[in-house]
Amino acid sequence: MNSQIKIKKRGEGFKNFLKKYGYFIAVGIIVLAVTLSIILTNGVKTSVDEASNLDMATKEPVEVGSVGLNFALPMENCEVVHDYSRDALIFNESMGWFETHKGVDLKSNNSKVYACESGEVIKVYTNTLEGTVVEIKHDGNITTKYSSLDSNVLVKVGDKVKKGQEIGIASNSAGEEVQTGAHLHFEILNGDNQVNPNDYLSLSNK
Ligand SMILES: [Zn+2]
Repeated sequence: MNSQIKIKKRGEGFKNFLKKYGYFIAVGIIVLAVTLSIILTNGVKTSVDEASNLDMATKEPVEVGSVGLNFALPMENCEVVHDYSRDALIFNESMGWFETHKGVDLKSNNSKVYACESGEVIKVYTNTLEGTVVEIKHDGNITTKYSSLDSNVLVKVGDKVKKGQEIGIASNSAGEEVQTGAHLHFEILNGDNQVNPNDYLSLSNK
C-alpha cells in the first residue's frame, strides 16, 4: 500500500514537472528540429552546387567552341589507343604506375601528324618523357599540343600554320609512353588546363 502511494506521488510529480517545464521542452525540441533541418538542407545544397560546378567544367569547351574553332583530326583514320582520363587513374605500363591521362593517344597506319586548326607554333622542344613536342596556339586561348613526335618536325616556333598542315611524324620518342609504340599523344589546353579532346573532335568513329 505504501509503495503504491509512492508511485502515484512520483507520477504526479512528473505531471507537475511537465506543467512547469513542458513549454520549455517543446520549444527546445522545435529549435533542435529547425537547426537539424537547416544543417541537412545546406548539406544537400552544397553537394548540388558541386555537381553543377563539375557540369560547368565539362561544358567549358563548348563555350570556347563558340569563338569559331573547328578542329580536324590530327591524324588520318586514327584509332584511340589510350583515352583521356582527367580523374580516374589508369595504369601506365611504360612507367609502371597509375596516373591520370590528360590527352589521347592516337595511332594510324599513316603516321603523319597534322595541325588540327590554324594557328601559330609557340613551342618546339624535346625531352626524355614527352619526346619531341609541338604546341600551336589558336584563337580563344586554346592550344593544341602534339607529343611523341619524331625529332624531324616540319615547323618551327613563330610559324603560322593552316588547319590540316602536316607538322611531323608520330613516333615512340616519349619515354613515359614508349611501351605504346609509335603514336601521337595529343592534348588540347584551355589556358593552362588540359581539356577533353573528345569535346572538340569526333574520335570515337575513327
Ligand atoms: Zn598519352
